[in-house]
Amino acid sequence: LTLLAERHLVQPWPVSGSIGAEARGRLEAGEGIYVTDAAGRRLIDGPAGMWCVNAGHRRQELADVMAAQAMELSYNSPWYTTNAPSAVLSKRLADHAPDGLDHVFYTTGGSSAVETALRFMQFANNVKGRPDKKLIVSRQGGYHGSTYLSASLNGRPRDHDWMDSAEGLVIKLTCPNPFRRPEGVGEAEFCDALVAEFRDVIEKVGAGRIGAFIAEPIMASGGVIVPPEGYLVRMRELCREHDILFIADEVVTAFGRLGHVFASQEVFGLDPDMITFAKGVTSGYFPLGGVMIAGRLFEELRRSNHSDAMFAHGLTYSSHPIGCAVALKNLDILEGGLLDHARDVSGHFQSSLKALEDLPLVGEVRGLGLMACVECVADRVSNNPLTLDLEVGKRIDTHCQELGLLVRPLINMCVMSPPLTISKSQIDDMATILRRGIELTTDDLVREGL
Ligand code: PMP
Repeated sequence: LTLLAERHLVQPWPVSGSIGAEARGRLEAGEGIYVTDAAGRRLIDGPAGMWCVNAGHRRQELADVMAAQAMELSYNSPWYTTNAPSAVLSKRLADHAPDGLDHVFYTTGGSSAVETALRFMQFANNVKGRPDKKLIVSRQGGYHGSTYLSASLNGRPRDHDWMDSAEGLVIKLTCPNPFRRPEGVGEAEFCDALVAEFRDVIEKVGAGRIGAFIAEPIMASGGVIVPPEGYLVRMRELCREHDILFIADEVVTAFGRLGHVFASQEVFGLDPDMITFAKGVTSGYFPLGGVMIAGRLFEELRRSNHSDAMFAHGLTYSSHPIGCAVALKNLDILEGGLLDHARDVSGHFQSSLKALEDLPLVGEVRGLGLMACVECVADRVSNNPLTLDLEVGKRIDTHCQELGLLVRPLINMCVMSPPLTISKSQIDDMATILRRGIELTTDDLVREGL
């Protein structure tokens, strides 16, 4: 049976490397910030799975609550009935969300949350008699999902340029990456240019055709890009001015990654029209996501003459009782000290990684809270990007795995976003291994004459 399963396993990347095909990347167990691979090697889970295992692996209380809920009520149709954990969870999420975002629509993950938010936008504009106000503005470098429309919003062309995609619906703005701003341009000036670009697009295309602007407060998969100071709030003001909905995609930044349940308001002073979330809401123990939306907007849509069009069907596993039960327990953990701990260690996390900037291969280390990115460059004077073929991120990850650390490679970058439970001394271990992995990679490149 195992063999059969393996033959049919579609792995998005080849499993290879010196650890051995059977063992490398094949994880068998987890505990706290560690995972164990098939060779019995214990590794620090540097990316917390995919930015999601915020409360850490193998938490008894999360496992218990899932088992108890499965025995109590394992499933209910979200369209004709409701369940107790989802009702309580909605109230608690609303308490944490920016003022006014007091309703939640549950989904099965991040992509479906993004799709749902965009359906809300289209539906709201239909109800208001302006169905053409439906274009979506996203950014180069952004990531919003892997379904048809959400993938079309992504900043990487390879995510969608092979599809006869929803490209016609999407307008992409410049990536707000201060590290890659034009030479001689200061950060404030760069921010002005980004805002001006959006204003120009609105003028050219017409506010009557643009329905939403979607943005991760910090671009995660694009390489932990922290936008220039004031950028998000200024983009939000433009949206308000032109009646364009601002969707904050907090699939990564919520649930403690930046030290708060939602980061929009607490960290950036931002009050979006909708917030999409997933991943950390259950610390990855169960697939769940959702959209926070204003009750005022939600009720307006529900009472409209067309409400059947939006609310007559939906996701089978929306507000799944097991997902909501584990999310509630996960919130208890976050509120019960983990958010404080995350805020407490984040300074040490950032400074330990920042220290890697003394390595000749490293162009910049950037981040906020417990998410950071190490970007490697061809040389430190020009900061020119390395040839993509070198796949330096993967090389670093291979060395780090030998040394006991899982890294999330992103072409020439390494992203670190460990479980929030990480201690200061574990952060030191992580930074030490990462340093050694980068040094060994540099040696390889020199040896290979690259
Ligand atoms: N938005 C963001 C910001 C993400 O990082 C991701 C996933 N990495 C998604 C949406 C899509 O989430 P999912 O994979 O759960 O569909």
